[in-house]
Amino acid sequence: MIEKLQQHRDDFDSRIVGVSSLQELKQLRSDFLGKKGCISLMLNDMRSLPNAEKPQAGKHINEFKQSIESLIKAKTQDLEKKSDQSSVGGETFDTTLPGRGEPSGSLHPVTQVMEEIISIFFSLGFSVKEGPEIETDFYNFEALNIPKDHPARDMQDTFYVDDETVLRTHTSPVQIHVMEKQAPPLRIIAPGRVFRCDSDVSHTPMFHQIEGLMVDKNVSFGDLKGVMDIFLQEVFGKQTRLRFRPSFFPFTCPSAEVDIECVMCSGKGCRVCSATGWIEILGCGMVDPAVFKFVDYDSEKWTGFAFGLGIERIAMLKYGINDIRLLFENDLRFLKQF
Ligand SMILES: [Zn+2]
Repeated sequence: MIEKLQQHRDDFDSRIVGVSSLQELKQLRSDFLGKKGCISLMLNDMRSLPNAEKPQAGKHINEFKQSIESLIKAKTQDLEKKSDQSSVGGETFDTTLPGRGEPSGSLHPVTQVMEEIISIFFSLGFSVKEGPEIETDFYNFEALNIPKDHPARDMQDTFYVDDETVLRTHTSPVQIHVMEKQAPPLRIIAPGRVFRCDSDVSHTPMFHQIEGLMVDKNVSFGDLKGVMDIFLQEVFGKQTRLRFRPSFFPFTCPSAEVDIECVMCSGKGCRVCSATGWIEILGCGMVDPAVFKFVDYDSEKWTGFAFGLGIERIAMLKYGINDIRLLFENDLRFLKQF
């Protein structure tokens, strides 16, 4: 009897070491403590023992039973703890370990420049307005003083959706939408995507512009120059020099192109500035009274200025990017530099 008990004890000890799941433990428990388990069988066998040996045998079996119960209890707790820490998709991981964290991403250089420009104008009291990317011919051209037969339409390679609908070629239509709804005075900027049928090292079919408009009493060309000075010196540095060149836009009069002193060569002349020392950066001008007429503003009472610039162009100059297409290839080796 004692010998048999020792055999069962050894058997149990070797089996419980190999148990790795609650399922296996349940089987082990039933093999030893179940109705037909070895403890029950041994208690049955005990009946055939002489009466004098029965108490001693019963004591041993009982001790064995108690030690099995406590070992199984300990093993159950052990397995339950391990199961809490694992079992997501069969993979093992410890929920108590601190997270490794993903490296933080960065904003696209175009977004970074756009946000910087918005914050500069925000500090000058301009608010941000948005408009639709699909426009009617009226808002994209006519209300901006560009009638159907106007040669200025040739300046913009337009994507036509149908005869009366276009992908907006500039953010200027937002001016019209805002002035239709809002009486002067106003100060707005309108950032957004624009579309032109054009693609080379300095053009992509989709790019971003920021349009600006200020309308108030006695707004003069001097105000326009002052705002452009502050804006471009904030972006390119306090030492940046500006140059205004007469130009033509159908919706402003007088109109000007603004150049900055070349940021690559500081005005000495290089390949980027075609050896002129100056780089064209934006277009601007005083709002043409004809545009005010379309939105029922009294041009005798109100004056204003408008400007528009390409965000990619600013980003390219600021970061020394020589091909605009790099901005939209989504190559992480390029984008991670910003
Ligand atoms: Zn230069």
